Amino acid sequence: MDAEVELKENHKTLAEHHRLLKIYPYLEELGENLVRQIDSTNCFCTICSIVTSVHYVSRHVQNDEHMRELNKAVLRAETYKPCEEPPNVNTVDLNNKK
Ligand SMILES: [Zn+2]
Repeated sequence: MDAEVELKENHKTLAEHHRLLKIYPYLEELGENLVRQIDSTNCFCTICSIVTSVHYVSRHVQNDEHMRELNKAVLRAETYKPCEEPPNVNTVDLNNKK
């Protein structure tokens, strides 16, 4: 009985979580830092998966831990980018020299 109640509570929390994700978009001024404002006083950093005060968030995005996580995320994103056609530098050089 208790377990069932708990399960329903969890589901409610999850639904609430998704509702909040829709309502609160990423803060544009923090761009690639992927920070959402989740209520009038708190922000959620998607990079670090932590909640931080709105007053602290601009400092948060500059701290070492956040920068490290952000760099990792950027690196991952770049790794998965489709290859762009490489510029044909050799051909250009040869043409110039001849
Ligand atoms: Zn962060």
